[in-house]
Amino acid sequence: MPITIIKDFCKGCGFCIENCPKKVYELSGEMNKKGYRLPQAVRIESCTECGLCDLYCPDFAIVLEKTKKKAKGKEAR
Ligand code: SF4
Ligand code: SF4
Repeated sequence: MPITIIKDFCKGCGFCIENCPKKVYELSGEMNKKGYRLPQAVRIESCTECGLCDLYCPDFAIVLEKTKKKAKGKEAR
């Protein structure tokens, strides 16, 4: 699974839920130690690994492991 949510970093802001273009996240019923409701990646198969959730999370609670290989830095000229 390419997405890990560090539960105790999350403050339940919902930015990841709002900003994911593929609607991968939903609010779960689980709370962390601080009492914030955690998001959950419920449609992980739709994830394109665009990185937006990682970018928008203000508390660095999302760790995205890129598993899809893309050709980088080898554009044809
Ligand atoms: S990497 Fe992109 S598609 Fe995947 S969960 Fe994050 S915002 Fe959604
Ligand atoms: S954006 Fe980060 S802090 Fe906000 S709900 Fe998502 S994982 Fe939690």
